[in-house]
Amino acid sequence: MKILVAVKRVVDYNVRVRVKADNSGVETQNVKMSMNPFDENAVEAAITLKESGIASEIIAVSIGTAKSQETIRTALAMGADRGIHIEAGEDTEPLAVAKILRALAEKEQPGLVLTGKQAIDDDSNQTAQMLAALLGWAQATFVSDLTIEGESITATREVDGGLEKIALNTPAVVSVDLRLNTPRYASLPNIMKAKKKPMDTMTAEDLGVDTAPRLTTLEVIDPPQRAAGVKVASVAELVEKLKDEAEIL
Ligand code: AMP
Repeated sequence: MKILVAVKRVVDYNVRVRVKADNSGVETQNVKMSMNPFDENAVEAAITLKESGIASEIIAVSIGTAKSQETIRTALAMGADRGIHIEAGEDTEPLAVAKILRALAEKEQPGLVLTGKQAIDDDSNQTAQMLAALLGWAQATFVSDLTIEGESITATREVDGGLEKIALNTPAVVSVDLRLNTPRYASLPNIMKAKKKPMDTMTAEDLGVDTAPRLTTLEVIDPPQRAAGVKVASVAELVEKLKDEAEIL
């Protein structure tokens, strides 16, 4: 079984995000970029499935500018076998990404598409769901435990009320949560080896996908500044304040 794993290049999770001066978006120039953290879990899951003999080949896909190739190389250094880079704008919307992934899934015929549960830049949490719908495949989202036997998948989903265990069949789309595993670091020798692994580049047009945006960003602004706190002298004063101001007692 082939596995297609989607990896997005995003602003590194340790970086303090800055809004562009013209409020049109978030600054990505001269900012450290990395693989979306949830996608690292997806790559790790794919490698574990290959190591246990369930997967035969792992294809890492990224949609974005030429810089996305660095993200694919990271996946290759972790253990993916080959990469596909789809040249597209930085702000390609989830629907367009899902259509591109559908075209690739139809071409490559994987038994499983793995994605992160959400990209930490847009927090859309849409791509996996849209992709499963477009393909007409089963889906398991927010997965924190995954077992595959033949064509049967058992997945544990992290839902608000606790953990939900579901059964589905391949081919399927699975979006993964952080608790699924601990992504491995790429060793230096593997980083060197990854440079020689094959990577195809194509455009969305080559796949017949229209990536024209369906949404218009009106404005991106910083969250409001937190107001300064007040120091109280005693618990009694705190309770009085809560009674007067918070309307919770
Ligand atoms: P989102 O729906 O944007 O929150 O993204 C969910 C998941 O879809 C991500 O964790 C990635 O696995 C995948 N994905 C979204 N956008 C891209 C992209 N431009 N390139 C590769 N994978 C992507």
